[in-house]
Amino acid sequence: MTINPMARHRARCRETRAQMSDYLDGDLAPEAVRRLERHTSWCPNCGRMLRNLRRTVGGLQALRDVEPTDMPPVS
Ligand SMILES: [Zn+2]
Repeated sequence: MTINPMARHRARCRETRAQMSDYLDGDLAPEAVRRLERHTSWCPNCGRMLRNLRRTVGGLQALRDVEPTDMPPVS
């Protein structure tokens, strides 16, 4: 009754997002990398955020060549 799966999920999302820049920089420990990748593989919100972040970090140069048509819809 006192357990709130949604709150737990949100906590995991916060943690995942806090680690994303380190993950993209390759500064994350392998264990944390595995956890982050598992979370982003099933959590649509974090998965989308990671894709967007990766695109940004990947370089604005590359961004110019990419049509915005594959941008996920913002809900
Ligand atoms: Zn999440």
